[in-house]
Amino acid sequence: MTRTVIVTGSTSGIGLGIAQAFARDGANIVMNGLGDPGEIENIRLMMEAENGVHVIHHAADMTKPDEIADMVAQAEQKFGRIDVLVNNAGVQHVAPVDEFPPEKWDQIIAINLTSSFHTMHHTIPVMKKAGKGRIINISSAHGLVASPFKSAYVAAKHGIMGLTKSAALELAETGITVNAICPGYVLTPLVEQQIPDMAKTSGISEEAVKNEVLLRLQATKEFVSIEDIAATAIFLASDAASQITGTHISVDGGWTAQ
Ligand code: NAD
Repeated sequence: MTRTVIVTGSTSGIGLGIAQAFARDGANIVMNGLGDPGEIENIRLMMEAENGVHVIHHAADMTKPDEIADMVAQAEQKFGRIDVLVNNAGVQHVAPVDEFPPEKWDQIIAINLTSSFHTMHHTIPVMKKAGKGRIINISSAHGLVASPFKSAYVAAKHGIMGLTKSAALELAETGITVNAICPGYVLTPLVEQQIPDMAKTSGISEEAVKNEVLLRLQATKEFVSIEDIAATAIFLASDAASQITGTHISVDGGWTAQ
């Protein structure tokens, strides 16, 4: 039976890597995310051609509950099932709390936390009908510990840990598991965009930001790869993970062991 996998924010970075890994595994994919329509179409066609699967892109804006509802409805209508939901879309803004723009706070909470409530709200009934399903929330090391100047991101990621645990308990006897993955730093556009600003505010080179700021707490002194996160998602969606629910897997080079 061909599985259907929804991955939010899968036009770039970790989400794209997860979508590609599930496509390689033979699943039909619902891609989501922003970007140049021509580039997204090329990625979609390539994923289909390389893997012999069906891939659709839905442009739902993760700040818009109606568009999220439509994405889930279209996924079910097109493929007749939703086996795996990966809540991955996320954005970042770095500023002290007293200077944090309120509209940025609202946007980060909407995309990084509330959108996962909406996707789950609409997907769980489809999974319940099937008597099985896997929900994987891409949290962060910042779902477990904090860093300064990232209040909205850290609050949203801590929130997603609570949503994960609560939903897992509700669904424990339904065949649906709910878990989080907590990555350390992965070099994706989300992180690369922060480096020039961090270099400017700290008065150090961009190379020093990578090695002395970002990797300071990553005990391995290496960035996590997109493939590491994708492989963890594939594992959580496998039969071997059927008794793993309401928890997280840290893929953070030892960051949160400290
Ligand atoms: P990225 O910037 O490469 O990708 C983000 C994706 O989210 C893109 O596809 C983008 O189009 C999409 N997106 C943004 N706003 C959206 C909106 N309003 N509606 C729909 N889609 C939207 O970032 P990434 O580094 O791949 O991050 C993916 C996830 O991994 C995020 O939740 C992030 O918090 C988490 N994460 C990343 C790192 C890291 O070091 N990169 C570490 C821990 C956790």
